[in-house]
Amino acid sequence: MEARPIKGERCHICGDTKAPLVKIPCCNKWVCCDTKFVSIRGGGRCEYQHEAYSACHFHYNEKHEGSWKECKECREFFGEEEFNYELKKSSSFP
Ligand SMILES: [Zn+2]
Ligand SMILES: [Zn+2]
Ligand SMILES: [Zn+2]
Repeated sequence: MEARPIKGERCHICGDTKAPLVKIPCCNKWVCCDTKFVSIRGGGRCEYQHEAYSACHFHYNEKHEGSWKECKECREFFGEEEFNYELKKSSSFP
């Protein structure tokens, strides 16, 4: 999907209203995506961050069952501390 700014929408991670947005399939939310810098700086925008590091996307990508927040496999993979950090972070995800 092509990233473009969407009127009335904003990135659900950083809150940027003017950045190009894409809907990420793992949690079905709009996040910003900087297509121009992807190959040079390795992303940097929320879409890349989310796909590279989040339990949410990992869970989706590995096709685990149910919600990642209750997923034992994800908890084991990320480890207790990291997983709790992810949970905390996602609760501030509007
Ligand atoms: Zn963002
Ligand atoms: Zn997600
Ligand atoms: Zn999982």
